[in-house]
Amino acid sequence: MLKELVIASHNQGKINEFRQMLTPFGVRVYSALELGLPDVEETGTTFKENASIKAETLSKLSGKPCLADDSGLCVTALGGRPGVYSARYAPNRNFDIAMEKLISELKSAHTDDWSAHFACVLALKEPGQKIRFYEGRVDGSITEDRRGDKGFGFDPIFIPQGYKQTFAEMSAEEKSQISHRGRALAVFLQKEFNVKNI
Ligand code: IMP
Repeated sequence: MLKELVIASHNQGKINEFRQMLTPFGVRVYSALELGLPDVEETGTTFKENASIKAETLSKLSGKPCLADDSGLCVTALGGRPGVYSARYAPNRNFDIAMEKLISELKSAHTDDWSAHFACVLALKEPGQKIRFYEGRVDGSITEDRRGDKGFGFDPIFIPQGYKQTFAEMSAEEKSQISHRGRALAVFLQKEFNVKNI
């Protein structure tokens, strides 16, 4: 059973989400940030590739089990962009600029189809073991008016299917129940901790 995990991220929003979801299972969660580990460059072209690179690199450097996620927003009318390039979609990871740019691109696409999904791949690398993957996805749509101040990234403009609120209007617990990361993590918990009904 995993007792400790390094989360391969420097994104405080993501680290908080992982800590909130994993702490109840008795896992001591460290972040790459607090261990002084580098923010590994994402040189892959798929979520899976990027998650592997981060998990392998930081597990090697820390000597601890490492959980990495790669995730992004895939917009139908933009052919799935920004996808794996979501974090780099705007300069200096400025999400205000990123959201503005996305809305402007969607308007230029001249379509009513503002559907999108978030995708997440988790990679677990334990020293001496083969890497394992868990995936999650949430479908929804993009809205022009930003709503809510919770979460991070594109949350203020993403409305999950079947809901009226944006992700940024939901509490961390509500978002985790349905989010791409929450779903991937639920699969992780089922497989690694034998947890049912998450
Ligand atoms: P990465 O996984 O660190 O490469 O970053 C993924 C990027 O996708 C983030 O910087 C955000 O732009 C976007 N993203 C991923 N998950 C979420 C989410 O739950 N809410 C909002 N934006 C997200």
